[in-house]
Amino acid sequence: MAESYDLIVVGAGPGGSIAAKTAAESGMKVLLLERSRTPGEKNVSGFGLTSKAYRDFPWLKKMELPSMRVCRKCVGHFLSPPPELDERVCLYSGPSRRISYPEGREFFTVMMLRREFDEYLAGEAVSAGAELRTLSLVTGLVRESGRVAGVLLEGGDEFRAPVVIGADGALSAVARLAGIREKWRPDEVVSVCCIDYSASRERLDWVIDDAAFHGFFGPGIGGNYFMCMAEGVHLGGPGVGNSLVSRLNRRRIKPARELLDTIKAPSCRNLLKAVDAVPREWQAHLLPWLDRMPTNIFGPGVMLVGDAAGLPEPIWAEGVWQAMYSGRLAAEVALEAVDEKDASHASMRRYLERLEKSPVGRDFIGGTQMRNLFELLGDERFFGELTEMAVDLFVAMFMNGQEVHSEAMARFLPILAENLPVLMEVGRIYAPVLLEAYSGAVRDKLQLLKGLGAIFSGMAGTAQGGGKGGSQPGGEAS
Ligand SMILES: Cc1cc2nc3c(=O)[nH]c(=O)nc-3n(C[C@H](O)[C@H](O)[C@H](O)COP(=O)(O)OP(=O)(O)OC[C@H]3O[C@@H](n4cnc5c(N)ncnc54)[C@H](O)[C@@H]3O)c2cc1C
Repeated sequence: MAESYDLIVVGAGPGGSIAAKTAAESGMKVLLLERSRTPGEKNVSGFGLTSKAYRDFPWLKKMELPSMRVCRKCVGHFLSPPPELDERVCLYSGPSRRISYPEGREFFTVMMLRREFDEYLAGEAVSAGAELRTLSLVTGLVRESGRVAGVLLEGGDEFRAPVVIGADGALSAVARLAGIREKWRPDEVVSVCCIDYSASRERLDWVIDDAAFHGFFGPGIGGNYFMCMAEGVHLGGPGVGNSLVSRLNRRRIKPARELLDTIKAPSCRNLLKAVDAVPREWQAHLLPWLDRMPTNIFGPGVMLVGDAAGLPEPIWAEGVWQAMYSGRLAAEVALEAVDEKDASHASMRRYLERLEKSPVGRDFIGGTQMRNLFELLGDERFFGELTEMAVDLFVAMFMNGQEVHSEAMARFLPILAENLPVLMEVGRIYAPVLLEAYSGAVRDKLQLLKGLGAIFSGMAGTAQGGGKGGSQPGGEAS
């Protein structure tokens, strides 16, 4: 007979392990199924865990992994087009003091290896009481009275539960088997190329220290990232919209080609040399990358979290915190469904409603417009002009020791006037982002005004209506 659980979670990535941990901590009997030998084995090598994760999952602060390097500085390299790939502007910065939570004012991310991180999170789920089964590939779903009621493994093992959480990544079998989604549309998914390097820890400490993220941007190369762990470097493709830009521009840009071009840029090549980086693996991964919050993420007895749901955010395609956050929300809804003995479509819908209101859902506000900004970043003329304008404003004015200072300073207005067309183009794209962003705030204010209006009109009605209030406390008092 099939073994029974309260909850089955498919996939022990960040989304699945957090879902399993949350549910097990609430006393549920949880089965966490992972196809690999160890969690994280098949995932991308290096990544950056955002400070948001430390804010929302404070227990992560005790996590210590050998590959960790805290990123307190970010460096942006703005390059001229290939073949020169000359460094035109370089921005080096710590976090902004305006960030709304303390961890965000201290650091950007912590870089580490996924295989260590995923194993750590799965260990947390097991410590909370979840049962982890590795080498367990889910190939089928059990259905009962029109809803998902369990899973089938390759080899025929069957497990049952009133709720199944699909945390099985970009190519989610659960999404397909549950009939939620057959496959991604071409404009919903990107292919990311990366190169994984070993590097000397000592050199990294000297050369990189805590400036563990370098972005390389420029016409012809889009955007690529260079992130450093304790002893390794991870160089990746469309961190800032390479494939996305090429897709939007409908140009035949090849992310792999652009990644190789970036390595040729003197600033990138020298960094790799300086830290004794030796390539050890070429990787390519699929990543869902939507500009709107997906809504087809649940069904009777089933919810999708993380990449399986398509939750990486619309600008950087950051997805680990999103997976963790959605995993926790889905587990909370699963717990309610099991308590109420109701895993119907309506019951699972609570997951979507809560996710839409959460920071994960709100990150999609203005997503389409932000994509349009990226479209401009991919435009060689536009991007080149903006970079040169930055050079002019900064170097031909403030950093200018070559000319008479007053004459250099007087360039401000002419530089702005010359670049008016390109600035207006930025405004044309940015204005709708602002409108989208503020419309929520305006709506909230209107709601508040409506609420206040209702209270005041209620009070006025009570004052005028005297004893007519009947059952209302105000009426009784009068
Ligand atoms: C190159 C690259 C770089 C990235 N860098 C960052 C970054 O720096 N920061 C960041 O926040 N995000 C980053 N992301 C995004 C991030 O990797 C994903 O959003 C995140 O891994 C999603 O987590 P998840 O738990 O939903 O899915 P996954 O991490 O994909 O985990 C899914 C798990 O399910 C298992 N599985 C799959 N199918 C089955 C099955 N049928 N049965 C059983 N198990 C199954 C898999 O083996 C895997 O362990 C990057 C992505 C890529 C591709």
